[in-house]
Amino acid sequence: MTKRIALVTGGMGGIGTAICKALAESGHTVITTYSKPGKEQAWLADMKGMGFADIHAYQCDVTDTAACAAMLARAQQEVGAVDVLVNNAGITRDGTFKKQSKDDWDAVIKTNLDSLFNMVKPVLDGMVERGFGRIINISSINGQKGQFGQTNYSAAKAGMHGFTMALAQEVARKGVTVNTISPGYIATDMVMAVPEEVRNKIIANIPVGRLGKPEEIAGLINYLASDIAGFMTGANLAINGGQHMM
Ligand code: NDP
Repeated sequence: MTKRIALVTGGMGGIGTAICKALAESGHTVITTYSKPGKEQAWLADMKGMGFADIHAYQCDVTDTAACAAMLARAQQEVGAVDVLVNNAGITRDGTFKKQSKDDWDAVIKTNLDSLFNMVKPVLDGMVERGFGRIINISSINGQKGQFGQTNYSAAKAGMHGFTMALAQEVARKGVTVNTISPGYIATDMVMAVPEEVRNKIIANIPVGRLGKPEEIAGLINYLASDIAGFMTGANLAINGGQHMM
């Protein structure tokens, strides 16, 4: 596998950490971002303790267009040009539409969807000029089927795939692929914090009979980041234990 520079937004979270590890294990230089300072030194020390030395972290709020441009300019100067971009940062602010505030709507749309504009804009020209790029957007099963209490999240996650399909067509002949991954329920802190009784009901609806593992998402990203994945673009890859088949 050609070793490249990969940037993962929100890479210190449950799924993001597994993605960073998998990309680093494949020999890529990894850059990640966080928005809330405090945990980055311990996280970097953990990664270095596991033998991943070529890993870098930058603070950046993915909802802030200027901050993303400035962070990417700095990271690309200090580490190198970004070849693989994984848009992983995301949040939920759940509640039925009747109870949903404009703030909850805006926070979810900005973090999950506006972030694609903010992160892709500063790296796309470079990818096109170099004739290689991989853009991977982490959506959700709930962007494919909708979810009670998640109008904001379902709209943002469905919107991510609209972005994927349109941009994939624009850059297909330039060696740049754009794909969406739609995970089902994954055993991260977020899902493990759900009361056991509710979690068991969720698991009962998953044909495979268990939650997904962050490493299973990371393995798919490693494939999409690779040279061999050049013929896959504009796809929305479901990885959900059979919970939603399209
Ligand atoms: P986590 O909450 O563990 O991680 C989310 C990451 O996003 C955090 O590292 C957080 O960093 C970062 N983040 C949040 N807001 C911002 C912001 N404004 N700017 C920069 N970074 C931000 O979630 P998961 O690992 O579970 O989820 C990762 C992705 O996978 C998300 O997009 C989520 O929607 C999606 N997903 C998750 C599923 C699951 O079952 N877990 C299922 C389907 C999709 P910080 O704390 O520093 O803000």
